[in-house]
Amino acid sequence: MNTLSSKAMLAKLVGFPTVSRDSNLALVEFIQAYLSDVGVESELFYDAERTKANLFATIGPVKDGGIVLSGHTDVVPVDGQNWTVTPFELTERDGRLYGRGTADMKGYLASVLTAVPLFVERARSGSLAVPLHLAFSYDEEIGCVGVRPLLAALQKRGFRPRVCIIGEPTEMQPVLGHKGKMAVRCCVRGAACHSAYAPYGVNAVHYASRLIGKLEEIGETLAHPEHRDDRFDPPFSTVQAGLIRGGRALNIVPAECDFDFEVRAVPGFDIGSVARELETYASETLLPKMRAVQPDTDIRFEALNAYPGLATDPDSDGARLIASISGVQAETRAFGTVAFGTEGGLYDAAGIPAVVCGPGSMDQGHKPDEFVTLEQLARCDAMMVRLANELGCTGVVELNR
Ligand SMILES: [Zn+2]
Repeated sequence: MNTLSSKAMLAKLVGFPTVSRDSNLALVEFIQAYLSDVGVESELFYDAERTKANLFATIGPVKDGGIVLSGHTDVVPVDGQNWTVTPFELTERDGRLYGRGTADMKGYLASVLTAVPLFVERARSGSLAVPLHLAFSYDEEIGCVGVRPLLAALQKRGFRPRVCIIGEPTEMQPVLGHKGKMAVRCCVRGAACHSAYAPYGVNAVHYASRLIGKLEEIGETLAHPEHRDDRFDPPFSTVQAGLIRGGRALNIVPAECDFDFEVRAVPGFDIGSVARELETYASETLLPKMRAVQPDTDIRFEALNAYPGLATDPDSDGARLIASISGVQAETRAFGTVAFGTEGGLYDAAGIPAVVCGPGSMDQGHKPDEFVTLEQLARCDAMMVRLANELGCTGVVELNR
């Protein structure tokens, strides 16, 4: 049986430069071979180009219910970052393991994979009461892209586990919630002319700025008390325009201006409502003015990406489970939140309640000299052992409903 330590496993995983824009096949094939060595069959779910794949495997009894251990295999790029170590090679220094993806989130994958022989042993001796699933996705970092077809395929098979543990870095604190996000591009198409004749043109930059002003106004209403949710920081939904392009020269009335904005919504807030309100403002207030000057003008909205928020009930089975196995008894079932998004919202939307708990901190995620500490990795290893024990005991039979 394979006896790699989680550190040695992490060194292997970090060695695969699985930046989202590149293939992750070498990594998932390595994992598939490792699983096969320890007696676990796994399945790859490829993308349309067959350059990337999700990996899915089940250990233990083949039946409904059980637990999903979920993580993404891709990492963010290192371009333009000032690393003092080689990013795709594990470097140990002062109790820290450096390398791209160590915190986000190959540390968790390493812990899970290292624990697989234990889960297998428990399954063979009949002491795994419910199935344990591994679901490793691609393209999480570019908007939870890979996990969507995986969830759709699994749902078609009637896949209904009770809980999903997403191992994004939370310093091993159980997290039950995060905001949802929607990103939208707005394209304003005006009419160009010499700037000396500005009133005869339709200035796309000006109209875009009015839309952005409206966006800010909407944002201010979101902070009102009736929309607050104090479990989050900031405790309300927020908006922002983060990117804008428009204009060619100061003496030309600009015909084009595009801007991208995002909405970060607390659970329960209708995340699409902001874009709808802007569209109404565009069609009822701005477009008539624009078209009075030049009929061939337009304002279009294009959804770029969205993922749902997460708000798992602190009294749910999943919350109970993560409280007992994370080793953070003092904060049992406290409603911890993170500011970043995870695949948890999509699992939850697919009817699989999700919790987030993993080694390392997002303070190190996406940055140069990303690291996870040996202490965090050991805590995640310990969580896997507690999970194996939990899955064998009667307390978790509830998870089999
Ligand atoms: Zn991540």
